[in-house]
Amino acid sequence: MQVLTTIAEVRAARTRWPALGFAPTMGYLHAGHISLVERARAECGAALASIFVNPTQFGPNEDLDRYPRDPEGDLARLEAAGADAVFLPSPEVIYPPGFSASLDLGDVTRRLEGAVRPHHFAGVATVVTKLFNIVQPTRAYFGQKDAQQCVVIRKLVQDLDLPVEIVVGDTVREPDGLALSSRNSYLTPDQRARAPALHRALTAAQQAHAAGERNAEALRAIIRRTLGEDLAPATDYVSIADPDTLEELTTVSGGALASLAVRFGATRLIDNVRLQP
Ligand code: AMP
Repeated sequence: MQVLTTIAEVRAARTRWPALGFAPTMGYLHAGHISLVERARAECGAALASIFVNPTQFGPNEDLDRYPRDPEGDLARLEAAGADAVFLPSPEVIYPPGFSASLDLGDVTRRLEGAVRPHHFAGVATVVTKLFNIVQPTRAYFGQKDAQQCVVIRKLVQDLDLPVEIVVGDTVREPDGLALSSRNSYLTPDQRARAPALHRALTAAQQAHAAGERNAEALRAIIRRTLGEDLAPATDYVSIADPDTLEELTTVSGGALASLAVRFGATRLIDNVRLQP
């Protein structure tokens, strides 16, 4: 596995692969990340992962400084997953002095996570555009765990005609349903024990939808009820939205995205499930 730290090194390495699958990450890798790398390799013949904790997608009071890091463990995991290369840029490589661009993709970035994290998706869209231009992947792999991010990236690719195919991989979960996340490492044992409530609540909505419930507010109520009273004050949003525009629905007629964000102390967890048409 090649370890690349400069743009020139990535460009030189890129010439070796006719097709390349790319999995951008912020490191502290878990089985969710690895599933994307393995799929990239299987489908494209070569896989490159990036590890970059992107400062511009963190708000001033968020966890940039304490975001978990484990570079050596990450390299070992990527090597074991069969990655061909990893790109580990420093912040200066991505944001040299004088850098000032920022991409605004409109309404879809202001709902849900965007309402709570106003500059988050501009940071994501800008860094992903740069990474696509540097890596020039055939396909790029993102996780359904960050459903709104997937919607934003698809819009980015569509609006700017970026020559890359976006692939979305299923959310990888713990046996008790908790979606794997680097941020799970922040949870205290008590918070960790309560965290599976997110997936339980989303599953309850999924079951009600499968049984015929089409009223979006009734589905939101099921989620809130299953989350329980103790998590109600810590819930940032409970959403039943159009899967493409993320507009809140009144009635679920086609497919929908059921999503939520809940705070456990200073740790914010997000999760979602799709309601199939
Ligand atoms: P992050 O390192 O959190 O920026 O995540 C990097 C990529 O891994 C993103 O495309 C995430 O959506 C994806 N990812 C994170 N957690 C999971 C998970 N539990 N299952 C599948 N993909 C995930």
